[in-house]
Amino acid sequence: MEKQRAERRRRMVLVPSPFQGHMTPMLQLGTILYSNGFSITVVHTHFNPPNPSNHPEFNFQSIPDGLTADDVSTGINILITNLLNVNCQAPFFECMVRMMEQQQQHPAGDDQIAGIIYDEIFYFPEAAANQLNLQSIILRTTSAATQISRLALLHLEEEGSSPLQDPNKLQDPVPGLHPLRFKDLPTYRHEIMEHYLQLITSMYKIRTSSAVIWNTMHYLEESSLAQLQQQCQVPVFPIGPFHKFAPFSTSCSFLNEDTSCISWLNNQAPESVIYVSLGSVASMDKKEPEEMAWGLVNSKQPFLWVIRPSSNNAPEGIDLLPEVLAEAVQENGCIVKWAPQKEVLSHVAVGGFWSHCGWNSTLECLCEGVPMICRPCFGDQRVNARYVSHVWRTGLELENELEREVVEKAVRRLMVGEEGEEMRQRAKNLKEEIELCITEGGSSYKSLNEFLEFIN
Ligand code: UDP
Repeated sequence: MEKQRAERRRRMVLVPSPFQGHMTPMLQLGTILYSNGFSITVVHTHFNPPNPSNHPEFNFQSIPDGLTADDVSTGINILITNLLNVNCQAPFFECMVRMMEQQQQHPAGDDQIAGIIYDEIFYFPEAAANQLNLQSIILRTTSAATQISRLALLHLEEEGSSPLQDPNKLQDPVPGLHPLRFKDLPTYRHEIMEHYLQLITSMYKIRTSSAVIWNTMHYLEESSLAQLQQQCQVPVFPIGPFHKFAPFSTSCSFLNEDTSCISWLNNQAPESVIYVSLGSVASMDKKEPEEMAWGLVNSKQPFLWVIRPSSNNAPEGIDLLPEVLAEAVQENGCIVKWAPQKEVLSHVAVGGFWSHCGWNSTLECLCEGVPMICRPCFGDQRVNARYVSHVWRTGLELENELEREVVEKAVRRLMVGEEGEEMRQRAKNLKEEIELCITEGGSSYKSLNEFLEFIN
């Protein structure tokens, strides 16, 4: 789909949120737009900056974000996001004014700014776009079903009758949101809920964007997308999965990818390995790593397990486990701090993915036809897990307490059981359908071209 570099390119300004699951799709979108003739400027916070050397073709501008060490040490991304939405408004406006002035001083040299694309959880760039008369476009980095569930959650809160407070109701279906139960709504632990409701209220208040880009596709979310498009005043462009349009080799990771696990995978039998990763934020309770390790060892399946470095001085990786267990783990498993996930999921040896069901991980897995064990922790992960297990039916969800017997049974159910084989077959069929979406004539391919026409 690459177009020849035009004599003069138009510039798109991207404003990513500084968290892995948000940064990755924004940079992938930048790569897609770059290969379609746009110059790209990424305006990012001082906190968690992207690595410019991974994208030498982009221009990077950093803005002060006003975060204190105390803010960052909370480790609560939603709280940090709410602060950034306030703190970054003025510095972003100033940054845009500087860019526009440069453009006016060199009308023949610099690329004209075509618009600003910003993450859905950032609404501060809208004021600058309006004042400077620029197109403003929201990038949605979660599923369409998540947006519908968040709106339902806000509605329940407004009614003041939230069944979420009543433990007896958690298994009940949410009216109109089949197959979601109240426990699948995108919620967080009590202390964070207030900040979260504040964020999604602001996110879905009347916004002034001129379009929405979505990292999803019609085939996966036909009815949710249709429902949202009806409510939305501006065009919606579902052009996912971005990573399939963007070049495979570009890393968007904050952590270094440990590629040694690929050599380890090369020595395993086809579809024998279960890959275990909880993404960039979710973590396990104190007791869980050990139960999980016993379950994986006892399942007798080879496993590749990502255990991220901890942010404090606590033991990490294999050091989390008692010595005798650590030896058993090393016999049949490979542990890394961060994996090249897309490469791992597309490896012939991988036959299952134990995931927290972040939206990027879910999409990456669906694209490779790998069945899943879903273990969501919070927020939209719950919605995605329910869709994997009950809509696309390419995985099973592990609920309740994590005990070694439960882990062992789940791994064997997925990797060697008949039920797992059926899920694998459905996952492979889905992979083929997704491939059709991104090839010429497919829905995402068409949406991308419609977006390019819209912006031109
Ligand atoms: N990821 C990775 N290596 C790892 C674990 C995760 O590259 O070892 C990437 C993964 O491919 C995905 C992103 O990190 O693109 C995680 O995003 P997701 O939305 O799945 O979850 P989040 O981290 O936002 O909870």
